[in-house]
Amino acid sequence: ALVTRFGPSPTGFVHVGGLYTAMVSRDLAHSTGGVYVLRIEDTDQSREVAGADAQFRRAFEAFDLVPDEGDLVFTALPEPRGDYGPYHQSQRAAIYQTYVRELMRQGKAYPDFATKEELAQIAEAQRTLKLPTGYYGRWAPWRDASESDVRAALEAGTPWVARFRSDGAVGERFAFTDRLRGRVEMEDNHNDVVILKSSDSSLRLPTYHFAHVVDDHLMRTTLVVRTEEWLSSVPVHRQLFAALGFAPVDYAHLAPLMKQEGGSKRKLSKRKDAEAAVDFYLEAGYPVPAVQYYLRGLANPRLAELPLVEALATPLRLDEFGLAGPLVDTVKLSDISADHIATLPGPEVLAGVRGWASEYDPEIVKVLDANPELAAAAIDVERVGVENPRKDLAKWSDFREAYGFFFPELFTDVTDAGDERFGGLDPALVRAVAADLADGYVHEGDQPTWFQQIRDLAARHGFAPNPKTYKKDPDAYPGMLRDAANVVRVAITGAQRSPDLYEVTRALGGDEVVRRLRALA
Ligand code: GLU
Repeated sequence: ALVTRFGPSPTGFVHVGGLYTAMVSRDLAHSTGGVYVLRIEDTDQSREVAGADAQFRRAFEAFDLVPDEGDLVFTALPEPRGDYGPYHQSQRAAIYQTYVRELMRQGKAYPDFATKEELAQIAEAQRTLKLPTGYYGRWAPWRDASESDVRAALEAGTPWVARFRSDGAVGERFAFTDRLRGRVEMEDNHNDVVILKSSDSSLRLPTYHFAHVVDDHLMRTTLVVRTEEWLSSVPVHRQLFAALGFAPVDYAHLAPLMKQEGGSKRKLSKRKDAEAAVDFYLEAGYPVPAVQYYLRGLANPRLAELPLVEALATPLRLDEFGLAGPLVDTVKLSDISADHIATLPGPEVLAGVRGWASEYDPEIVKVLDANPELAAAAIDVERVGVENPRKDLAKWSDFREAYGFFFPELFTDVTDAGDERFGGLDPALVRAVAADLADGYVHEGDQPTWFQQIRDLAARHGFAPNPKTYKKDPDAYPGMLRDAANVVRVAITGAQRSPDLYEVTRALGGDEVVRRLRALA
């Protein structure tokens, strides 16, 4: 059984790539009967953001990624869970310090008193000489400093960081087997990386490298799933595991999510792309299963070929990941999502809308509560008993636009007969058509009967019965049947395009149809 973990840094922004990595980690653990841990990597106190925990909670709960172990108080996980915490790195300072002390005692780490300016000079000199930048060899003055120099610096109160004493040499090759990429070979520049940050910071915290190694050992992680950007750090991580006497972990480095821009691809960017934020999906109200399905298809393209329910139940497989970063395409997601919503029964659609609206559009909740029967009838229009239900909702936030006109609170009566939605028809004629239908309106009856009255109405006001007749002598008619029907449609729905008008009138009821016609007449 695998133990995996997801280790987000709280930067005030939950990236969809993080959601993706978390999903993969969770899946791989659970498909082997293992454990998925959430560890908050908050060692960078300068980037700390208030409310970050709440943000993770919201995102992880919404997407059903509540961890088996973690500190966060989830609704479904009311207390910290797991015996390996705390799972916030900022609360583990003493643990890391203990291990640093031990490495120092063994001579595998050392204090470095170099100032920022000195480090900048070193880097500058290395660049000038076209050498790899870093703290190594003769560029590491404190590595072999004498005890008296170290003591003097300490006594002078000079701030210091702890550095790892790397045992490699510049230019050496390193190879390991990535669980996703197979054998990976790379240059191994054995820098003496910083493992503990400066002594002048209030909380003495480790760097990512050190925290990763200590935590993943202590939390008995067996497989680290993380993005490709960390691949080049594997040599130093492996060295750190060995120096600490820990068994190494396995790695699976995922390709990052990408975005198509013109002819080229680039990483999905927090700064440039709204869809990089998990909040984007929550705010828009993409149904969670649709997003999950979409992300699973990016991870294992074979799953995109399966129906949603099946794809969600099929575990991800490492051997089906591509090495190229998958493209995030919100148009594709919207298609998937619209297809998904179209398969849902009316009450489930309304429940989805309501759940989303309770957070993002409270007025919709009020409207649904005030008109339960109307809502039920409206959502069933072209959904029940049709072979291809309307795909008018790609996300819950589309409800207002697609269904708002049904509700008195959201519909604005069309009262201006000169409105451009009537396509330039004479306003007097528009009013006459509306008045005529209102006066003799017959609501009961089946679709053909109902529609016959629209035909009769059009004929009474001189509209051509069909395009052919109209085209023969356009001057003889004010328009054709469809222009007359458009008057009725706009009066009833406020728009030139709508679901089947007959079905709409069934949901609205005869009185409301007549009322809307009169508002225009
Ligand atoms: N905190 C790291 C990040 O935000 C996590 C990398 C890892 O999973 O080890 O990228």
